[in-house]
Amino acid sequence: MKLPEGIRNQVVMEFPSRPENVAFARTAVAVFAAQLEFTVDELDELKVAVSEAVSNAVVHGYAGEDGCIRLEAAITGDGCLVVAVQDRGRGIEDVESARQAQWTTKPEEHMGLGFTFMEEYSDRVEVESAPGRGTTVTLYKTPARARIPS
Ligand code: ATP
Ligand code: MG
Repeated sequence: MKLPEGIRNQVVMEFPSRPENVAFARTAVAVFAAQLEFTVDELDELKVAVSEAVSNAVVHGYAGEDGCIRLEAAITGDGCLVVAVQDRGRGIEDVESARQAQWTTKPEEHMGLGFTFMEEYSDRVEVESAPGRGTTVTLYKTPARARIPS
């Protein structure tokens, strides 16, 4: 398999939008990420961030309906872990608001803190979304001990 330019290793998986697959996804990503010099605490942070992204695809993207979630995890040439979680569900009307803490479209059941955890536990979070077309959330995280001091 030929890897894209600048990518050292990559795995791609697709699974149905079932709540039980959230745990699968976070563990699979943590095992893949263990190739890098992450500490146990950093791997735990990564697991939380991945859980939040995949849960959002299940709960909001497909709103409990069956759909396909695609997850790509990659290691770049400079040792950054990149995780992209994609759904082809409902999409987000207003991404800027959705990323705010305590902003939720399901206030009865949710706290609106998923994006806040993703931001807190990743170095960078990118959100691409189109109403009716779906959402891709991309998380970037480099092990602290591999970071080049600036
Ligand atoms: P919590 O994560 O605390 O359970 P939440 O899921 O509502 O609550 P966030 O994860 O921060 O909070 O997401 C904020 C809002 O963004 C959601 O309420 C939802 O409206 C929207 N959203 C997030 N991810 C998606 C997605 N994949 N598809 C559609 N809408 C989404
Ligand atoms: Mg959430």
